[in-house]
Amino acid sequence: MDHFAYRSGILHAEDVPLERIAQAVGTPVYVYSRATLERHARVFREALAGLPRTHIAFAIKANPNLAVLKVLQREGYGADIVSVGEMKRALAAGMPARDIVFSGVGKTREELAAAIEAGIGQVNIELEEEGAALAQIAHAMGRRVDAVLRVNPDVDPGTHAKISTGMKENKFGVPIDEAGAIFARLAALPGLAMRGVALHIGSQLFDLAPLEAAYGRIGALVADLRAAGHAIDRVDLGGGLGVPYERHKVPPSPADYGEMVARATRGWDVTLYFEPGRVIVGNAGVLLTRVIWVKPGVARPWVIVDAAMNDLARPAMYDAWHDFEAVAPNGAQMEANIAGPVCESGDTFAKARRIDAVASGDLAVFRTAGAYGATMASTYNSRPLVPEVMVDGDRFAVVADRVLPETLIAAERVPDFLED
Ligand code: PLP
Repeated sequence: MDHFAYRSGILHAEDVPLERIAQAVGTPVYVYSRATLERHARVFREALAGLPRTHIAFAIKANPNLAVLKVLQREGYGADIVSVGEMKRALAAGMPARDIVFSGVGKTREELAAAIEAGIGQVNIELEEEGAALAQIAHAMGRRVDAVLRVNPDVDPGTHAKISTGMKENKFGVPIDEAGAIFARLAALPGLAMRGVALHIGSQLFDLAPLEAAYGRIGALVADLRAAGHAIDRVDLGGGLGVPYERHKVPPSPADYGEMVARATRGWDVTLYFEPGRVIVGNAGVLLTRVIWVKPGVARPWVIVDAAMNDLARPAMYDAWHDFEAVAPNGAQMEANIAGPVCESGDTFAKARRIDAVASGDLAVFRTAGAYGATMASTYNSRPLVPEVMVDGDRFAVVADRVLPETLIAAERVPDFLED
C-alpha cells in the first residue's frame, strides 16, 4: 500500500496535489512519500518480528537520498553499502557505523581501510584474496573486524538476467562447495572475526521457492562450519523481495517472506541480517513528468514526455515496466508509445500501452519509481540531473536539487594546450 491516490480527480502524494509540486519545482522530478516509506519499513520489520534476533540494513543502492535514509534511520534501520560513498551517506544520515554492512564485489583496499577506520559493523567478503587483504589491513591498524563470507549458492532466482546474482556463473560470492575451506583459512587470520556467511541471489524476486532453496543450502553450510569447530553467530540473508510494477502482478508479501524465513532458519541460533532495498522504497516514489508533445506515429502516437532514460534508466536497462498515469485524467484512454527526449531509440518507456489520454502540457507519473530510479540518473544529453522531493502530509521539501548544466560545465576544464 502507498500514499499516492486520486482525490477529486487529481493525483496526490499524501495530502499534496502533484500539480503543486510541478508548479514549485518543475518537471521531471522524483516525489517520495514519507508515510509510505515509514509504512514499508514497519511492515517489513513486523514481518520478521517472530524471528529471535534480526538486524535490518537498508540496501542504500536502491535509494541513497539523505532524506530517505533519515526516515529509515528513524525507523531503526541500518545500511547495506557497496562503496565508501554510500558509507558516508549512511553516517551522514545518523546511522551508527556498527549498523552498517559493507557488501560489494570490488571493494578497494582504501575502501576497506576507511570502513575499518569508521568502525563498520560487518564486511561481507566476496573472495578469499579480499578477505586476506581485509585481515592484513585490520591487523596493521590494530583492529579486528567482524566479517562474513558471501557464498554463491548456485540457485536460479527466476528474475531478469541483469539482476540475478546467485548463480555460479555470476560474479558474486565464493562457490558454495569451496566455502568451508575458504572460511577456515580466513578464520585463522589475525585481524578478522569470521562471524558467519551471507548470500543474495537477486532482485525483484516473485517466487520464494528459490530463496528458500538457497537458505536451505546456507543452513547446511552453517552446520558444516560448526561441525568443523567455527563459532557461527550471523547469517546475512540479503534482499531481493519484488514489488508490483504492474498492479495486477502481486509479489509475495513481507509477511509471506517472514514465514518462509522462520521455516527455513528454524534452529539456526544466529542473528539474521536482512538487506531489503526495492521493497522498502519502490512504491514510495513516483517520477512526475510533463507531456511535451503527442507526435503522430505509424501505428499509434508517441507521447513524448520531459523525463527520459537519463532520469529513469530501468526501462532502457531491463525492459522494465512502470505504470503511467495522468495526474488529472479526463476519463478517456488512448493507446500510445511513451518516450523521452534523449537521442536513442532505447529512450522508450512503453510501447503500445493503453494509458490515460494525455495531451501536450499534461502532467503524468511513472509509478513505483522510488527504487533504482534517481540513483541511476545521469546527465546524458547534457540534461539537468533530476531533482527529488519528499512529501510529509500537506507539506513537501526539495531533498535533492536539480543540478543544472551550468554547474556541470563549471566542474570541467579546457586545458591550456587547447587555448592557443
Ligand atoms: N544486498 C545485495 C548484496 C544486493 O546486491 C542487493 C541488490 O542488488 C540488495 C541487497 C538489495 O536488493 P533488493 O533491492 O532487491 O532488495
